[in-house]
This record gives sequence, C-alpha cells and structure tokens, in this order.
Amino acid sequence: MSDYDAAVVGSGPNGLVAAVLLARAGRRVLLVEQADAFGGGLRSAELTLPGRVHDLCATVMAMTALSPAFRELGLGVEPACPEIPAAHPLDDRPAVLVHRDPGETAERLGPDAGAWRATVGATASGGLPLLDMLLSPLGVPGAGPGRFRPHLSAPLRAALFGRYGMLPATTLARTRFRTVEGRAVLAGMAAHSIVDLRLPMTAGYGLMLAATAHLTGWPLVRGGSQRLADALVAELLRLGGEAVTGHRVTTVKELDADTIVLDAAPWQFAADFPAGYVRRLRAFRRGPGVFKLDWALDGPVPWRDPAVARAGTVHVGGTLEEVALSEAEMFAGRHSPRPFVLLVQPYAADPTRGGHTLWGYCHVPNGSAVDMTEAVEAQIERFAPGFRDRVLARHAMTTADLERRNPNYAGGDIAGGLSTLGQFLKRPVWSLNPWRTPLPNVFLCSSSTPPGAGVHGMGGWHAARLALAADSRRSG
Ligand SMILES: Cc1cc2nc3c(=O)[nH]c(=O)nc-3n(C[C@H](O)[C@H](O)[C@H](O)COP(=O)(O)OP(=O)(O)OC[C@H]3O[C@@H](n4cnc5c(N)ncnc54)[C@H](O)[C@@H]3O)c2cc1C
Repeated sequence: MSDYDAAVVGSGPNGLVAAVLLARAGRRVLLVEQADAFGGGLRSAELTLPGRVHDLCATVMAMTALSPAFRELGLGVEPACPEIPAAHPLDDRPAVLVHRDPGETAERLGPDAGAWRATVGATASGGLPLLDMLLSPLGVPGAGPGRFRPHLSAPLRAALFGRYGMLPATTLARTRFRTVEGRAVLAGMAAHSIVDLRLPMTAGYGLMLAATAHLTGWPLVRGGSQRLADALVAELLRLGGEAVTGHRVTTVKELDADTIVLDAAPWQFAADFPAGYVRRLRAFRRGPGVFKLDWALDGPVPWRDPAVARAGTVHVGGTLEEVALSEAEMFAGRHSPRPFVLLVQPYAADPTRGGHTLWGYCHVPNGSAVDMTEAVEAQIERFAPGFRDRVLARHAMTTADLERRNPNYAGGDIAGGLSTLGQFLKRPVWSLNPWRTPLPNVFLCSSSTPPGAGVHGMGGWHAARLALAADSRRSG
C-alpha cells in the first residue's frame, strides 16, 4: 500500500486547488514544493525594503472569484478592490478609465460607446455561463460530486463571443472602434495574452479580461497574493494533508502515492513519459518571457492625469499602434525600446502593504537576458513626469531569475506555453482530456493545460476530478 492516496507536485494555484479537492474527497494527500515557500505564482515577499509587501507574480485576481474552482472551494480571502479597475494613459489627452460599470466606461468613450457595449459589454453580460465555458473550454470530465455543468445558454453566448473574440485584436480595434482611446484600451487588454496582436483570438483575450474588470473590479488580495496560497495550504492541513517545501521532484517514480498530480510544466517529467507522448509535448511551443520589476516608492506615482492614481492596474504603452508594435517586436524575438508595461498600484486598493509599492512587467523574448529597467521606467516617466524621483528601491527579475525561482517559467514564460489560438485547446497536446497523461495514475494540472495562465485553479480542478474518477473506476 502506498504512503499517500495522492501526491501533488507544486503549490501554485492549480496544485493547491487539486490538493484541497482531493483532500476534501477523503484522500490522504502529500503536497511537495521545490521552493522554500508555498504559493508558486501566488508568492508575496519583502523584495525591496523591510515591511514592504510585493507580489512576485500574480497580483490582480481578475478571474479568481468567477472561476468554478474557487466558487466551489469558497475560501474566505479578503479582496481589495481599487475604485477603478484599470486606466490607460495617453500622451496628449485624458487617460481612458475602465470603470467597474460598463455603462460608465462606454459613456466616457464618446463615439466608441456603442462599440464598447457591443463587444466588452456583451461579453460581460454573458456573465458566469460564458465565463464558465471560456474557463472550461473542453467541457467537464464526468466525475465526482458537485460536478460543474455548463449553463444551457453557454454555447450560444460562446458563439456570440467568438464572432469578435476570434479576431486579431488589431482587426477588432480598427474595424469596430473609431477613437484613439477606444483602440488603445482594447489593445492594452489584449496585450495580456503575450501574443502578437495581429494574430487570431488576441481580441478574445482582451474582451474576456475587460469583461472581468466589469464583473469583479480586478481585486487584489488584501495583504498580498500569498494570503490566498496560505489559505489553501491551511485548508489542506486542516483536512489532514501534509505539505513540504524545499524538495524538487525529478521523477514521478520517487513519489509513493497511488495518484500523482503535476502542477509542473510537463517537459520537466519527459523522462517518465513514453516516447510518443514526449514527441507531442515537444511540438507544444513555449511563450515569450517577461521582465519583472517591483518598486518601493515614497508616494504615489505622479500621473499627469490624476485620475490614473485611482486605478489598480495601469496599461502603459500609448496608442494601439504603439502597443501592437511593441508586442510584435517582442514576438519576433526583439526588445522593444518602448515596451508595453503592465503596472499595478496596490496602494490604490490595499493600504496594508507597508507603503507605496509598485508592481510591473514587460514582455521580452523567451530566454532574454536584457535588463529592461531603463526602458520600463522611461515609459512610466512619459506619462508620470517625476516618477523616478519617487523611487526608494527597486527589485528586478530577468527571465533567468524567474526560472530559477520556478522551473515552470522556462525562459521566463509565465503562461505555461504560448497562448495562441492553436495552443488554447492543444495544451499541451490535442486531447479531450489533456489533464491526463499516458501514465494512468499521473495527471497534469499546471497552466500548460487548458484554460492556461491565470489564477483560476481550473487545471487543478479538472485534474482532481479526473483523478477521482480514475480512482472510483479502479476501486469499483
Ligand atoms: C510576473 C508574473 C505576473 C503575473 N500576473 C498575474 C496576474 O496579475 N493575475 C493572474 O491571474 N495571473 C498572473 N500571472 C500568472 C499566474 O501567476 C500563473 O498563471 C499561475 O500562477 C499558474 O499557476 P500554476 O498552479 O499552474 O503554476 P505556478 O503558480 O507556476 O506554480 C507551480 C509551482 O510548482 C512548483 N514546482 C514546479 N516544478 C516542481 C518540481 N519539479 N518539484 C516541486 N515543485 C515544483 C513551483 O516552484 C511552483 O511553486 C503572473 C505570473 C507572473 C510570473
């Protein structure tokens, strides 16, 4: 008999969700994490000055509360909502503000009000049935209690969404939106995909993300993302699970458990899998990398447009043309001198981070060793003159630093693989159940499985369901 019913390798949101669901189903669970603390993409730490809490990776919980996995888990972590979810500053005019209310956002877009309502507004009004389908694109493995059933209206809503969502973001922006503001804000949303905005389905990423700004307000976790990881670990321990840090698993053979769930990039375990599966894994392409920066400031960012100070997230990159060019450069393997920068001002939502901390990153080619600090700060300074004078300390992570902390981020790819249309479902291989592997007791749950990157826990949710179903088939 094995020591454990299940071993989960990796404690990112997907691994933690899988571990808790398995423990809730009565399994004896062991969680193994290679880092010195649990959380993966949910880690927080004092990166700059004592007392300053920074989120190393994920900070905006755009999808968390909406996701079927976290709805089922129902953990009481306190959200911290900014007054305005997102802002997009522009050089010679007021910033675009994405308010919680789609109507207010649309009104401020003037001639593009109708376009916003018809695209983002319509996506938001698809509500949970649509989000459930997008977060669970291959449907539901038929297993276990409380299983998730898509709403009957979901296919229709998905078809309506797909009409715009399948387009390249540049096409949707240029054909539906007329103003500099409308086009720029759509580009900023779509650029979260880390894909060239001229490629199909980048509009879909933008629409879905913008819709979540209306649906959730883009909250942070009060006190830092680590609190969410800590709550999940506490729940696992309460259920009798065990959890260890500081051990990197190199082969599934070292785990004495009936079921193994890998919150890991599958390439790591290539030696365990049959050659045919490994060949299919090798066809799965890595995504670009990111260059991450965290700052301790002695006050808020001095935005030229003061309204930007009220926003949690700020998309720094200017017009559609500029954002699209910088993402195209990065996608082609070059470093944009004017990168698109994703910035989050936690102090606009959460006063408990020890002062004014700032979080940001830009996209770079996979494996890049270039220090983008200068280029990123120049972009912020462009819309917030005097920004550099506010910096007390900064902490930078290149793609190699990210990979050192988390082997899933190979070459700085934080999305578990390229997020193009082709790799949305083929993730990491074509299969109706990509969370399964050829080894009957080994399952994948990391963001290298659908629906991909983000703190939604759906990879863990699917893998746990499949593992429980396989279990009941074995014992039944
Ligand atoms: C800089 C950055 C910013 C981001 N911003 C956001 C954001 O604002 N909002 C959002 O929703 N998402 C964001 N993301 C993405 C999000 O963090 C990830 O998509 C998410 O964490 C993926 O979850 P996961 O469970 O699949 O893997 P991870 O969170 O990567 O966790 C995997 C865990 O497994 C461990 N591990 C891997 N291999 C082994 C092994 N062999 N043995 C033992 N342990 C192992 C790792 O150390 C890690 O702890 C960001 C990511 C980064 C890096």
